[in-house]
Amino acid sequence: MKRRDFMTTTALSASALALNACHRPKDKNTIDTIHINKGKKITLKLATSWPAHFPIMGTGVDAFAKRCFELSGGTLEIKVFPKNILVPALQVFDATSAAQIDAFHSGVYYWKGKNPAFSIFGGMPLGLTSEEMITWMKYGGGYALWREMYGKFNLYPLIGGTTGPQMGGWFKKEIKSLADLKGLKMRIPGLGGEVMKLLGVNPVLLPAGEIYTALERGTIDATEWVGPALDSMMGFAKAAPFYYTGWHEPGSILEVTFNKTKWDKLSPEHQAIITVASEEMTSNMLQEFRYKNAKSLQELPVSVQIKSFPKEMMDAAKIALNKVLQDESKKSNDFKRVLKSYNAFVKLNKPWDDISTKNFLEIRA
Ligand code: CA
Repeated sequence: MKRRDFMTTTALSASALALNACHRPKDKNTIDTIHINKGKKITLKLATSWPAHFPIMGTGVDAFAKRCFELSGGTLEIKVFPKNILVPALQVFDATSAAQIDAFHSGVYYWKGKNPAFSIFGGMPLGLTSEEMITWMKYGGGYALWREMYGKFNLYPLIGGTTGPQMGGWFKKEIKSLADLKGLKMRIPGLGGEVMKLLGVNPVLLPAGEIYTALERGTIDATEWVGPALDSMMGFAKAAPFYYTGWHEPGSILEVTFNKTKWDKLSPEHQAIITVASEEMTSNMLQEFRYKNAKSLQELPVSVQIKSFPKEMMDAAKIALNKVLQDESKKSNDFKRVLKSYNAFVKLNKPWDDISTKNFLEIRA
């Protein structure tokens, strides 16, 4: 465009704008709405279950808070507090429920003691992958049930990241048969731990900081953690050289959850910004896990032996899982309702997944 043309166009646009402005009704409310939250800055306290800037999970929520600030033009500040600063790692749920803090970032399966159904929102052994879990939540009714059940604790949950497929864990000795599991002490939480218990394992819970020492000293015989990216930082390879492929956490869901009274008081704009930023955190975290797991797998010490569990063990795990799910359904009506919704999505999803993703991956292999 020549300079003269540019000047003419600009002049025309300017006069058009001026004309528009003259005809715009002088509605005070409209102008106020345009200046979203002008002068009204909101600060929220969010506690996590991770150490400060913990790779992928912790840095993910740091980035989420930064995005809320950017997208709101600085009117929404979320202050992130790592574990044990405001509240201990596993008390973030209670502290948010009681409005001692405004929000938390953690893993959903930690709260199965509050309601057994929550373990399903966190992910299912031998179940849905991360992408499938998110699809069930958003389109298959999972979110509605999750929000209903968290509502009883005055909480409003959003998916706040997902790990992608996790590894089956580090073992000091090779598992050649189902019998090799008998009496093993393994650090494994959640429904996966319940299944392992039926297979003869003694599942134990240990805080992250104590796992390596327990494994090295032989207090435990095995541990699961996440995947190569985070496992390699823990040094497990030195104490347990057999690294098994995963089955018990195919797509674990993390959450960013708000005190519901606080959430309901936020402006629609701030609610929308948090929702969008949480979706960005979820997709970024899944991609970061994939990339860093792939890279770290290449860099594992040569002493590490990657193995898959024997077929008879996985067959037994499927039977054990069914028993665990049936038992939990008898004990908890909420568990039964969530499992029904989950299973309906599994049934809907499978035929399509078989002829699309699964089929394609076989062709590509
Ligand atoms: Ca894990």
